Amino acid sequence: MQQQSMRPRRYDAVMAGGGLAGLSLALALRQGLGDGARFAVADPASSRPASTDLRASAIAAGARRLFEALGVWERVAGEAEPILAMEITDSKLGDAARPVFLSFDGEVEPGEPFAHMVPNAVLQDAMTELARARGIELLPTRVAGFTPGPAGTALRLADGAEPAASLLAACDGARSKLRALAGIGVTGWSYHQSAIVMTVGHERPHGGRAIEHFLPAGPFALLPLTGNRCSIVWTEPTEAAARLLALPRVLLRDELEQRFGLELGEIEILDAPRAFPLGFQMARAFISDRLALVGDAAHTIHPIAGQGINMGLRDVAALAEAVTDAARLGLDIGGPDVLERYQRWRRFDTLAMGAATDGLNRLFGMRSDAVRLVRDVGLGLVERLPALKSFFIRDAAGLGGQSPRLLRGEAL
Ligand SMILES: Cc1cc2nc3c(=O)[nH]c(=O)nc-3n(C[C@H](O)[C@H](O)[C@H](O)COP(=O)(O)OP(=O)(O)OC[C@H]3O[C@@H](n4cnc5c(N)ncnc54)[C@H](O)[C@@H]3O)c2cc1C
Repeated sequence: MQQQSMRPRRYDAVMAGGGLAGLSLALALRQGLGDGARFAVADPASSRPASTDLRASAIAAGARRLFEALGVWERVAGEAEPILAMEITDSKLGDAARPVFLSFDGEVEPGEPFAHMVPNAVLQDAMTELARARGIELLPTRVAGFTPGPAGTALRLADGAEPAASLLAACDGARSKLRALAGIGVTGWSYHQSAIVMTVGHERPHGGRAIEHFLPAGPFALLPLTGNRCSIVWTEPTEAAARLLALPRVLLRDELEQRFGLELGEIEILDAPRAFPLGFQMARAFISDRLALVGDAAHTIHPIAGQGINMGLRDVAALAEAVTDAARLGLDIGGPDVLERYQRWRRFDTLAMGAATDGLNRLFGMRSDAVRLVRDVGLGLVERLPALKSFFIRDAAGLGGQSPRLLRGEAL
């Protein structure tokens, strides 16, 4: 009896990090491995009563299908606004008119919008509640270290506990400590840009339109939320963003109006705007001994195409499927074959999306009129090719290539 209580707590999998990636992975593994399996999500932030993230994410169709299959979507659907159309302009700040160079109708299948805007806090809080209801342990502490071994990984938590796990998922964000501890390097750079995020109320309805103005300082996106509200992602060089945020609210509103325009009537800033520094980062490997990197710990990209967490959720779908298939065959879920399968599945897609978002940001950041002319001709060509547009939409929705089951809306 005495000896048994000395044995470390044993989990099938521990998620280090309970952001959108860590929580959705825990829910997916619960579905795949069933009620007999034991999971924990360790994150010091889980001691907060509610999320304070003021961002909203464009959740692409594939990610929405995953949330539906996991029972998350029914809890957030009331706060999700479908994107019915997307318009892209290439303009300067002072331009009197901003002609639309590229537009997308918002459906991947008849009646299925290619994305919905959902506040991050709504998603985070809904998944936390669901994780509790499904018996996933939420440990309000950080993973401080780990030592992998043939039978499992021995973890050291900051609160002193030392549980063991067959699989450790590093879902601990862009500055992943676990990635560093595993000796996995990154390729990356700063964009020297920050994204100012805020919620704006406006007089007239937005009609479900998402608009992205490619301005010389960086993209300025208006993304529809429920009611007469938009989420703004406004990219500026880092010093300019800091200067803008230091302005009195009335002057910030004037600057905002110059970019937002008057089409939706009077506007009002509804929360306290925040700036997020932007960079590109790609881990040199997504796996190590009994360890998988998931979400921003594996890749961080520019929010220009609203793809960051969508890529993280594709990681979740692929890893959960590889683990579930292995468990059903009675194999070790943290074994090298499972992890290799995950890495092969995710590596190419991630690199391709990382390169595409990096290239877009650079292309639209070029200020010369000659470059502007060439890119506008390019956008004009894409605009005239419906098959190419529909390919882009399916790909951005996470439905291109060999999608894991959850992204097709199928349970594991
Ligand atoms: C301005 C902006 C707009 C964006 N818009 C979109 C969008 O529209 N669509 C989209 O798909 N993506 C978007 N993204 C990207 C998206 O927000 C991120 O990809 C996503 O939040 C990353 O989630 P994550 O769970 O991987 O990491 P995080 O959200 O960073 O979570 C990591 C968690 O790990 C915890 N943690 C850290 N260290 C440890 C440790 N040692 N042990 C335990 N826990 C630890 C932290 O407390 C944190 O809670 C946007 C990003 C920005 C900056």
